[in-house]
Amino acid sequence: MAWVTACFNITIAYFIIIILSVNPKFPLGLKRNCGRIGAYMERTLTEATVKQIGQTVTLMGWVNALRTHGGVNFIDLRDRTGVVQVVGGRELKTLHPEDVVAVTGEVVKRDPTAFNPKINTGEVEVKLATFEVLSPAQTLPFPIDTDGRDIDEDLRLKYRYLDIRRPRLTKNLRLRFAVTQFIRHYLAQEGFVEVETPILTKTTPEGARDFIVPSRLQPGLFYALPQSPQQYKQLLMVAGLERYFQIARCFRDEDPRKDRAYGEFTQLDMELSFTDQAEILQLIETMFTQLVKDIFPAKHISPQPWPKLSHGEVIQKYGTDKPDLRQDQSNPDELAFAWIIDFPLFTEQSDTDYFHGSGQAKFAPSHHMFTAPHPDDIPLLDTDPTKVRGLQHDLVLNGFEVGGGSIRIHQRQIQEKVFDLIGFTQEQKAQFEHMLTAFTYGVPPHGGIAPGIDRLLMVLLAEPNLREVIAFPTTASGRTAVVEAPSAATTDQLAELNLEVKSRSYTSPYEHILDLLKTHQIKYQLYEHEPVYTSEDAMKIRGDVSLHQGAKALILQADKDFILLVVPGDCRADLDQLRTFLKAKRLVLASKDSVLKKTGLAVGAIPPFGSTLGLITYVDPRLADNQAIVFNAGRHDRSVKLAYRDFIKLEKPVIITA
Ligand code: ASP
Repeated sequence: MAWVTACFNITIAYFIIIILSVNPKFPLGLKRNCGRIGAYMERTLTEATVKQIGQTVTLMGWVNALRTHGGVNFIDLRDRTGVVQVVGGRELKTLHPEDVVAVTGEVVKRDPTAFNPKINTGEVEVKLATFEVLSPAQTLPFPIDTDGRDIDEDLRLKYRYLDIRRPRLTKNLRLRFAVTQFIRHYLAQEGFVEVETPILTKTTPEGARDFIVPSRLQPGLFYALPQSPQQYKQLLMVAGLERYFQIARCFRDEDPRKDRAYGEFTQLDMELSFTDQAEILQLIETMFTQLVKDIFPAKHISPQPWPKLSHGEVIQKYGTDKPDLRQDQSNPDELAFAWIIDFPLFTEQSDTDYFHGSGQAKFAPSHHMFTAPHPDDIPLLDTDPTKVRGLQHDLVLNGFEVGGGSIRIHQRQIQEKVFDLIGFTQEQKAQFEHMLTAFTYGVPPHGGIAPGIDRLLMVLLAEPNLREVIAFPTTASGRTAVVEAPSAATTDQLAELNLEVKSRSYTSPYEHILDLLKTHQIKYQLYEHEPVYTSEDAMKIRGDVSLHQGAKALILQADKDFILLVVPGDCRADLDQLRTFLKAKRLVLASKDSVLKKTGLAVGAIPPFGSTLGLITYVDPRLADNQAIVFNAGRHDRSVKLAYRDFIKLEKPVIITA
């Protein structure tokens, strides 16, 4: 039977190959010599050239650098394994940095005086025979041969696929992979199983705000993205896996901070059955010590074994629960791990504790609501809950919290008691019925931990923030690199989900304009100045702009409608032209009173953004003479300068034509 199935599979595979190779839509390289694109790209990697002296090779990659000297010219060709020098004639002068090329030529040994010890192929070079540009590159928006730290980060993230070409970032991503590979391999040997758990799930209350996703099939209901796989991993213990891990993505809608990735982050999520705190701590310590030795041999860990400090003690001694225990904090190669234990089970409930009960209770879990109380302190749950110690453990590295975990509650009554103490209503408790029910079917005592991969790497690579160790992070303002997310949903999408988006209400047009500029990531300059009431005074106080650049906004009454007209500060509004354009019978300047009544603003403070006042904006074509325009942004004492084309892009006004 197995044999028949295998034959059948082979036959199917054979047909697929035939289809692919004859179908021009799938030039997958199954036929050779049908032009570069589509043929198997027979290629030698740059690192292999050193073993191919005397042979003719074809290399493919990017023009890393171009050195032209007249008749003899050089390129450094870069691929994933490094760079090699290619020497040729004038024809190389047509290339540009970052062009993708295929280069054919003979590998020759360099003259010893020309050896380059800085590169792994420094003893050879390739004598160009032919080359082909596979894809030309325009000038990059920023250099990629520097460490990039001085380049505007928003720009780096917009072109992240170029930024990653930078050796520092390429190296960070490769080391990140080395770390996760190491962990997977290590834990597999220790009897762990990696299991994927759902992303579309129900809220996991770990103290942060949830991201929610609307359900189309059940309009009005929502999934939550997991703050961590906490409940699933505990259920996997009930399921008998005994040792689970996952390189897991977690989602928390927290405000972006330096050492917190807004939105999503990756953790090594782990759970063990029939365990205790000592075993979990030892496992992590041994694994990470080996990891540092194998992958970061230049680093050294001190002190060893890692100190275990009680929470009360560190707070008293260092004033923080994440002390930096390095002997020399200026030494980038020193790593100081420490365990923090003996946390109180509860802390005072605060406004930032999300979904911890009704918000009325006095107690919030220090770690999360599944952490077990110290067995000796169980009676205190009834008498003095604040005195109860929790079986929580935090991992600290060089002053950063790089992981946390605990021994879990596995008895239904204790879990229910903790729910009561944190103020859960009947209804809230019902949301966790699955956990309580699972605890009635034979549950092994269990516990776990979740070291943060991003944060661990940030410290190991001595990077100043998490974004440097993530391929496509969100910007500091919470937008995703390269693609513009979040973005608006179409009316159809919203209708399918039975959702309606309320327009945001702003306290003032000024606030509205600044919000527009920020959310659309438009460059602008803000002037704060004494209140001004005429275009002329405004120009004087702003200093560096001409009257013609001033965008003077006038409210007009066109028949029954109010409209907004924008003209350059030194021009008179051509009302006749506009009247003809609008085919209006009557077109007059609105009175001061009606302007105030209509817009809530005084004449002189009106911004050229009619959209923020509920008016259609018309623009005098003479305003387009300006690269940049400047205007009073809904306040007499605030002016904004921005590019004319950004103004048009944002406001989409009607441009008056003769
Ligand atoms: N779920 C916890 C967290 O993400 C870790 C743990 O308790 O294992 O912080």
